[in-house]
Amino acid sequence: MTMQLDKFLKNIALSACNICGSTAFRDGPGGRRFNGIPPTCEKCGSLERHRALRSIFNRLDTSLFTDLIALQFSLDPSIDEKWFRRCDRSIYGKRNSYDLQKIPLPVGAYDVVVCNHVIEHVEDDRAAFTELCRITSTRGFAFVSVPNPAERQKTADWGYPNPKDHGHYRVYGVDIVDRIKAYLPDTWCVMIKDTDPVTRREDIGFILSKARLWHDLPIRLGMRAKSVNKVAA
Ligand SMILES: [Zn+2]
Repeated sequence: MTMQLDKFLKNIALSACNICGSTAFRDGPGGRRFNGIPPTCEKCGSLERHRALRSIFNRLDTSLFTDLIALQFSLDPSIDEKWFRRCDRSIYGKRNSYDLQKIPLPVGAYDVVVCNHVIEHVEDDRAAFTELCRITSTRGFAFVSVPNPAERQKTADWGYPNPKDHGHYRVYGVDIVDRIKAYLPDTWCVMIKDTDPVTRREDIGFILSKARLWHDLPIRLGMRAKSVNKVAA
């Protein structure tokens, strides 16, 4: 009886949204569920990936960001603007709609640049990765994620926005790490895996930085982090 109660309480604890604290969820787009659990938070609208990425940031210790200025491409709840001294947004077709392949900002314009699920929408991802790191200052890092790269080995690049895949130019596989290494040989990169506390779905984010600190930190903190690129001294 006690064990059943423990299990019940554990399930309740697992089911809270780590962004807004809500425990009410509804089915995802197209009635989607994961592990039989509806993934959309009723209160904040977050999905599995938002909460998995939020877990990464929470473990990194967001108090480190209080003096940093951030830019987020597209609006998603994986980060909280209150963590930063200032947080600007570039929203496609709206506010500050920057072209990722040619961002009209100077070198090091922002300390933290967050770009979740955007790079698959641009034609030239080499330019996008390069630009993201160019506008990131030496104090901080760029954070990049793409849809489910762990689900396939090789990236399929269509060379056009595929209407059968949400208008994405490509679907990334595990070999995204080879692209990052080739595109950004002078940038430290660490890959971090974390889990949505609601559905237990995993997701991956990449930290790219001129500073070794941000490459080493997740590894030192014992996060599920793996070095992708080291820069020769
Ligand atoms: Zn929520």
